[in-house]
Amino acid sequence: MIKFLDLHKINNRFRKELEDSFSKSLDASNYILGSNSLKFENEFAQFCGTKHCVGTANGLDALTLILKGFIQLDKLKKGDKVIVPANTFIATILSVLHADLEPVFVEPNPETYNLSIDEVKNATTEDVKAIIMVHLYGQLADVENLLQFAKDNDLLLIEDAAQAHGAETTLNIERPISYPAKVGSIGYAAAFSFYPSKNLGALGDGGAVTTSDSELFEAISMLRNYGSKEKYKHEIIGFNSRLDDVQAAFLRIKLKALDADNQKRRAIAQHYLEGITNPKLKLPFYDGSDNHVFYAFVVEVEDRLDFTKFLDKNNIGWLIHYPIPPHKQQALSQFSDLKLPITEHIHKRIISLPISPILTDDEVKSLINTLNTY
Ligand SMILES: *Cc1c(COP(=O)(O)O)cnc(C)c1O
Repeated sequence: MIKFLDLHKINNRFRKELEDSFSKSLDASNYILGSNSLKFENEFAQFCGTKHCVGTANGLDALTLILKGFIQLDKLKKGDKVIVPANTFIATILSVLHADLEPVFVEPNPETYNLSIDEVKNATTEDVKAIIMVHLYGQLADVENLLQFAKDNDLLLIEDAAQAHGAETTLNIERPISYPAKVGSIGYAAAFSFYPSKNLGALGDGGAVTTSDSELFEAISMLRNYGSKEKYKHEIIGFNSRLDDVQAAFLRIKLKALDADNQKRRAIAQHYLEGITNPKLKLPFYDGSDNHVFYAFVVEVEDRLDFTKFLDKNNIGWLIHYPIPPHKQQALSQFSDLKLPITEHIHKRIISLPISPILTDDEVKSLINTLNTY
């Protein structure tokens, strides 16, 4: 059996360090905003190439607090429109709704699954004030074109980086912040999730915002901590959304392995791309650079139900990211009449195959052989 994702095996690689850091946390008993939180925020900001990082309780809160932070700073106001990809995890869209803003659903480029710049241009009206670009499945969005467009039209460009920790590129464009062009430093602000299955995953929930804007950093630091800078002094109406100190300690350990893990994911992806020759499977687009960290290896197949039965029979784990597009979810029924044919087409055909840094060479080989017999 090749599991879709073996979290035990992933985290067991760090067992000794995780246990030691847990013991230290238990002795220190500084559970909320302790020294690990601060250290992780500094280390993660440095990793991303930003001035600041604020830990949050999860990725959805990180996204929501970026938008609420912009409202706090009068850069956005209630009812403003925000462009989002139609084919994303529902959290991207929920964050817009939770911040009392209005999502504008935009179709992807069917090759990369990321926002199509032409569709973004078509969807931009006077009321649109921001764009959330999702680096879906770990691959950078069309950042160069989106940055240029955002700059020319005075739009706030936000990254949903929940699937792309560590992806990077070189940019030939002036940005709000300086080099290196790593995920988290490309837009005005970025939201990360440390949900256990992500490329950098905690042993529970966690999230973070990265930005180089000091005012936004201050606003979000307060918003996530009851609107407070100083204990029991509340300046704004805040939330409780802090990153647990013990999770921050675990993340500090796992951050050290992130680049090597991403490199392993890319190497496995290359093997798949070279080895899988079955014409029934449409393989993902990859330009071979470090702009992809393969959170998911997504193929398209005409008869997905039949393919899943084949995978089950051959003991290969699989998942669908995601089976129902957000605008067809019951919770978002006000958007159900939208015409989004590319998104709907993709959602019927996509399926994610196992890809993670703990897959062995033998497992990868056997997977390729089996897929070629379908
Ligand atoms: C996982 C994910 C989120 C939300 O993260 P949580 O930590 O689960 O709240 C947001 N956006 C995308 C694209 C994600 O994959």
